[in-house]
Amino acid sequence: MPQQQTLDLSFARNRRYAVLGLGKSGLASARALAAAGAEVLAWDDTPAARDKAAGVPLRDLAGLDWQGVEALVLSPGIPHTWPRPHPVAAAAKAAGRPIVGDIELLALAEPAARYVGITGTNGKSTTTALIGHLLQQAGRRIAVGGNLGTPALTFPALGTDGIYVLEMSSYQLELIQHLTFDVAILLNITPDHLDRHGGMAGYIAAKRHVFDGQKAPQVAIVGIDDAASAAIAAELTSDPNRRVWPLSVENAAPGGLYVADGWLVDDTEGQAARRLDLGSLPRLPGRHNWQNVLAAYGALRALAVPAETILRHLPGFPGLAHRQELVGERDGVRFVNDSKATNADATAKALGCYEAIYWILGGRAKETGLAGLEPFFPRIRQAFLIGEATAAFRPVLDRAGIATAACGELPAAVAAAWKAARQDAVKDAVVLLSPACASFDQYPNFEVRGDHFRQLVQLLLEGGEA
Ligand code: ADP
Repeated sequence: MPQQQTLDLSFARNRRYAVLGLGKSGLASARALAAAGAEVLAWDDTPAARDKAAGVPLRDLAGLDWQGVEALVLSPGIPHTWPRPHPVAAAAKAAGRPIVGDIELLALAEPAARYVGITGTNGKSTTTALIGHLLQQAGRRIAVGGNLGTPALTFPALGTDGIYVLEMSSYQLELIQHLTFDVAILLNITPDHLDRHGGMAGYIAAKRHVFDGQKAPQVAIVGIDDAASAAIAAELTSDPNRRVWPLSVENAAPGGLYVADGWLVDDTEGQAARRLDLGSLPRLPGRHNWQNVLAAYGALRALAVPAETILRHLPGFPGLAHRQELVGERDGVRFVNDSKATNADATAKALGCYEAIYWILGGRAKETGLAGLEPFFPRIRQAFLIGEATAAFRPVLDRAGIATAACGELPAAVAAAWKAARQDAVKDAVVLLSPACASFDQYPNFEVRGDHFRQLVQLLLEGGEA
């Protein structure tokens, strides 16, 4: 491996930057700017975050004289518009100073590299990871991160032909000034985070930023299966200077990417070509994942990776942890970790993928409970309840005629589900942890819950207890 170069932020030397918010990305920004010779004034309203900022020059930014400050580097978690701007952001704005995020600084440091931006309400992480996997297998020089995972300013310098693959939250998109994505992807838009953006219109406007400044041959890949995204696609397509590939898993999408009879169809080159049986990717099950696969395939085509290369490497994608993650199989029973499904909507996606389900659910229930899951109940062989939600969920499942067991905690649920699945010996049985609940009654977060499930399954596969 050639030695990795660090990012060149020399444009910042001897200039003054204010950095507000010292989480992972803010800390990385403050450190990278300071290392480049910038004067950094960094702050976080939380003393605990300040305590962790060893080596970063701290300065309360309230009352700062903004004259001579190059920009305010804002953590994406901090509001600068809705519901009301943080006072520091308001002061920077009043003084006419730019408010940017770390991705903007990355773009300034690496102007010759190429950029792929992925946004949408759901599927961002999966699509980002899938694009990263495929580009890596295709031998490209890449870095993957953004919203989740590696903060942008800890990336290596990739230079010309390097590709930064960035998962972009709507908050981050609002903090970009100059970056134009070579490939910009909008997967879907459903109501989410409305409080932060001042309603649906604000949320849609934020997502729309991923396409700002694009011109052909740069490519916009836009899901058209929801009304808001479809409206954006129509608007972009009406601009002759843009190159737009619509994406649909529901209907034909002329000039774009779509699904017909379970096959991926590529119509981006003037002739619709069937490329891939989407049922052949067990680690990316379900229509929602088809949307992610189409988007990733499109991104790689836009970056001139041959279709054959993409198709060859798709089956090798290991999948992301906690999202319908296949963690093991014994005696024909598959074990699937979908701990990320913390509400009924997300659980519906998983239930739709399997026919004979031994369902482990529960935790701390969301307001919506199990609403909307009724159509999937015929697929449930038995339900194994854990956590606080047991009392509320049990009567719902009872009424639907589903056999339930109140297991209390996860080890008992895994043992009981395995026992039942083995006894029934039905075809294609799946023990599925898809809780439709937050984890906080029993675990610090959904990752720890999912890791625990994986561990319990491993024990069982090794022939141990359960
Ligand atoms: P994000 O990073 O946008 O939260 P993830 O890739 O982590 O998305 O997926 C989170 C959950 O959302 C998955 O477990 C699945 O239930 C659901 N999901 C994934 N992709 C899609 C999609 N394209 N459309 C709708 N739901 C999806």
